[in-house]
Amino acid sequence: MTTSEAHETATNSAPWAQSGRQPSIAIIGAGMSGIAAVVKLQKAGYTDVTVYEKTDKVGGTWRENTYPGLSCDVPSRWYSFYFALKGDWPHRYSYGADIQAYLEQVAEDFGVTQKVTFNTAVTELTYDAPCWHLVTSDGKQEIFDVVISATGILHQPNYPDIDGLDSFQGACFHTARWNHASELKGQRVGIIGTGSTACQIVGAITDQVSEMHVFQRTPHWLSPLPQIAYSTGWNRLLSAFPFMQRLAYHYYCRLMVHTFSAATVGNKFMQRLINKTCVKHLKDNVPDPALRARLTPAYDATCKRLIFCSDFYPAISRSNAHLITDGIAQIEAEGIRTVDGKLHELDALILATGFNAAAFVLPARVTGENGVDLETQWDGAPRAHRAVALPGFPNFWMVEGPTGPVGNLSLIAISEHQVDYIVSMLDHMKAEGLAAIAAKQTAYDDYNAAMGEAIKNTTWATGGCTSWYFDKSGVPNLYPWKPLHYLKSMRNPDYSEYHLIK
Ligand code: NAP
Repeated sequence: MTTSEAHETATNSAPWAQSGRQPSIAIIGAGMSGIAAVVKLQKAGYTDVTVYEKTDKVGGTWRENTYPGLSCDVPSRWYSFYFALKGDWPHRYSYGADIQAYLEQVAEDFGVTQKVTFNTAVTELTYDAPCWHLVTSDGKQEIFDVVISATGILHQPNYPDIDGLDSFQGACFHTARWNHASELKGQRVGIIGTGSTACQIVGAITDQVSEMHVFQRTPHWLSPLPQIAYSTGWNRLLSAFPFMQRLAYHYYCRLMVHTFSAATVGNKFMQRLINKTCVKHLKDNVPDPALRARLTPAYDATCKRLIFCSDFYPAISRSNAHLITDGIAQIEAEGIRTVDGKLHELDALILATGFNAAAFVLPARVTGENGVDLETQWDGAPRAHRAVALPGFPNFWMVEGPTGPVGNLSLIAISEHQVDYIVSMLDHMKAEGLAAIAAKQTAYDDYNAAMGEAIKNTTWATGGCTSWYFDKSGVPNLYPWKPLHYLKSMRNPDYSEYHLIK
């Protein structure tokens, strides 16, 4: 049966799990979560899968971000699919291009690419029991039994609301929309923001530009990044013995979970250790005490998303680098004017101002049971049940949805666990002949109430900072317990938390 025949059947016949046919499954997004979803669904025997990808390539954030210095601060041997470990990662911390090449290779090797409808965004999703009606950017309409949103977290650039942004005459672009035609060598470059992205860029290009002006609103803590290039011999050994790849995966998983993640959810010893490491890193790499003072945050090191970067401090200490801590008054044709009245003349302006972290599947319009609109329901503070499900939105699942464990973790690993959970749900539907599964409102309310209480004890909430983790509700939108607890709780769905609809 072709995909469109299956969709036709979905409209005309009994729910898939009762009629014995394959469920038709739409996946939104061909980034790492979408790739994991296709591979695991296929492995479990669900082959009627269509992936909608808004651009012309797989890779998600790693396709989208191409800025100089782009790398991943989660170790490569863990930042990999467990079903496709790789013995020959070139570095301990991969550069963006290597991760993108890996994702494209996995998509090819596991038959994902052929499932993807490229250059097609999903614009509308409407539930008409027991199916989802989907509308795409080219105006086509399709019907699916199940929808999996794998749109990622940080994919809608946050453009700063600064007066005169459009009046700047030089090249001006967001870091996720890097303008490769714009030559920065020898230019006076300004960058707004000092998050993970800005630090990597400043570290990578300051020695090539004539002047680097870094506009810092709040200082961030930086931990050193112990980068190494793997030797050919070591990589040959790991390639020859896949069990060593698995050992390395678990080693890095435990290392990150028991150190950096533990610090965020209450481990005081780790918090102190990380604070000390960051203070030492700053002291050892910024000799000028005045500059050091302006780079010193007034909050705990793990409060904002911790930055791992060894290149930023040496770069900002160079004679052609200027750290500007006076607030931005406005942007003008010639550059940026700060509140002290000074005009910082620039040839190019980079907006390293982050992303709208409350978007998830939005701006697609998602309408659940009884015409409930997801954007209205979320109202700028997205929540979910166990980060994957929503009451009133049956058979709609999210990978990397709201309130999942994010922090300094491997999002690939989390995606894989969430996809396994979704596959278990499908298996249960099949076994029980269910038409739909949706989170119970009570389960969702209890889960989110418990999270709301627990988040108060995390360093994201108590550490004295604000960050993109906070949403409109005023609290961080993150999983407040130990990440291993989340992974364990996702092993077997507790069906008492769900409406099982016949
Ligand atoms: P970010 O962490 O949200 O940082 C945005 C920066 O822009 C902050 O310094 C912020 O200042 C500043 N900013 C925002 N609006 C501003 C305004 N109107 N005026 C002045 N400054 C403004 O964004 P990001 O650096 O792109 O990183 C986002 C996330 O992507 C990271 O937290 C991380 O999760 C991920 N990432 C990961 C890696 C990796 O290696 N795995 C690499 C890059 C990014 P405030 O601090 O004052 O808000």
